[in-house]
Amino acid sequence: MQELDDPIDVPSPHAADQRAAAIVRSLGGRTLVLVGMMGSGKTSVGRRLAQRLGLDFADADAEIESAAGMTIADIFGRHGEPYFRDGERRVVARLLGERQRVLATGGGAFASAQTRSQVARHGVSIWLKADLDVLVRRVRKRNNRPLLADVDAEATMKRLMAERYPFYCQADFTIYSKEGPHEAVVESILLALESGLSNIPRLASPAPRANVRVELDARAYDILIGPDLIANAADHIARIAPGAACAIVTDSNLARDHLPALQASLDHAGIRHAAMIIEPGEASKCWKTLEWVSEGIIAARMERGDVVVALGGGVVGDLAGFAAAIIRRGMGFVQIPTSLLAQVDSSVGGKTAINSQHGKNLIGAFYQPGLVLADTDALASLPEREFRAGYGEVVKYGIIDDAPFFAWLERNWTGVFARGPELTEAIRKSCASKAAVVARDETEQGDRALLNLGHTFGHALESLTHYDGARLVHGEGVAIGMACAMRFSARLGHCNEADAHRVEAHLREVGLPTRIQHIAGWNAGPDEMLEAMQQDKKVHRGALTFILARGIGQSFIARGVPGEDVRAFLADELG
Ligand code: NAD
Repeated sequence: MQELDDPIDVPSPHAADQRAAAIVRSLGGRTLVLVGMMGSGKTSVGRRLAQRLGLDFADADAEIESAAGMTIADIFGRHGEPYFRDGERRVVARLLGERQRVLATGGGAFASAQTRSQVARHGVSIWLKADLDVLVRRVRKRNNRPLLADVDAEATMKRLMAERYPFYCQADFTIYSKEGPHEAVVESILLALESGLSNIPRLASPAPRANVRVELDARAYDILIGPDLIANAADHIARIAPGAACAIVTDSNLARDHLPALQASLDHAGIRHAAMIIEPGEASKCWKTLEWVSEGIIAARMERGDVVVALGGGVVGDLAGFAAAIIRRGMGFVQIPTSLLAQVDSSVGGKTAINSQHGKNLIGAFYQPGLVLADTDALASLPEREFRAGYGEVVKYGIIDDAPFFAWLERNWTGVFARGPELTEAIRKSCASKAAVVARDETEQGDRALLNLGHTFGHALESLTHYDGARLVHGEGVAIGMACAMRFSARLGHCNEADAHRVEAHLREVGLPTRIQHIAGWNAGPDEMLEAMQQDKKVHRGALTFILARGIGQSFIARGVPGEDVRAFLADELG
């Protein structure tokens, strides 16, 4: 952090242009993000700063109000602060991902670890620091601040300052916002940028990227992992399908957060596109949505050589992939996975499906994508619960056949959750593991089934909770399923209790459920579980197949597991 206080003379207009151009150049495409308390002048200073630098200006609070169609005070009043903060985090992530600009953020935005890491990735942060009396005088002039709506504005301001200063002081620059002309504050910022930008190490070291190849002879493809892949998607898609139009399949959450950046990239490259937006959630993996999406793609005059682009989590990827497999007997297909689960698992390997009323993923096809773009920036808008659920699938690769990776996760999971460089490494490692298995056994004739560790239990749990995402999301089902598979392995004498405990301890440490009773409102018994498990795709001539383990990193396929053993285990589990 660098501090600068006194402004100097403003230079002549011509020199000012050159000076602005030099500063913008040294920002390397990054956005200038103003943080600080309400009343510190972020909007007024930001607007003038943008003008001086010839950049766009955006005010996150104004964007939130226009997206929600109501004032921030109304959002607070109707939905509460956590709801507002979640929306704020997503809006800031979107504004940061779109283009270089000057961005004024709301007073509480920088308190979010996810937002700070996004700002570090895409921006340079400036804390506009003002004295208490200045802040109170300024906000009293305007009375639209929900957190200051109570009687004692000064006491509230003091409390918020105490809460937020530890975050603000992590900004790259601190600039005093004194009473007086805003131009003086702008000049202080320009001076600080001129002298201080070269001292920020991360400007010299770009965010990590990785590339994994899925070796499938003529159908081999790349998984690109890293930032900015959605914003540059058109270039990557045009490389594998020159001249092709794009039928984007996405859900309404992604349509709000990431579709505009994808469309802008395609527009910029002159690629024709159409978007099919489905409802988020597992219920969309059904005949009705498949029909609607397929008819929509055909109606948009998409030809066989055009590309279906799945922008979303595993639900969008599985559904869009199946549509791509069957429309005109097979269109081009690109996966842009946006959930952690989709980036480490479902977008890779070509399994596509919808659900039957009898069970999950029972109607589908193997259909490989031609390219996977795993944009790590997209994870900034992913709800924390979904991120955690996706992490369950990352842990799975360690348990299957990579004990050192499991140990690495035990040591590094906090870096993964903080979206640090460890996250890219965890995605790369997971994709590399899956790619190796898929290259050996594309259509699951053999050890690809190991990837289903935890899924026989997990799918039954999802089915018995009626795919109700409020109670259980897929990755949570897998986490409980993996813990069950380890305990079942120990009970059958395949592995020692210590390994089963270690897996359970790690899953619990990151906040994942590990017991069936952790599911809200669980009321099914062992017989219903057994019945639901009989619909598993691995059932062969009525006999159950499980993925069990001889220890962490030593999983194996156990065929013909007697139903009575499973029932006895479930009866104990369910107490
Ligand atoms: P999902 O697609 O339902 O996504 C979870 C939620 O997160 C949704 O509400 C979605 O809208 C939202 N979301 C996703 N990315 C977001 C982002 N960047 N910002 C904001 N919101 C975002 O579920 P999932 O966990 O990604 O995938 C689960 C599905 O994947 C299941 O249907 C499962 O069967 C399937 N799956 C398939 C394979 C395979 O090999 N094909 C492997 C594992 C799982």
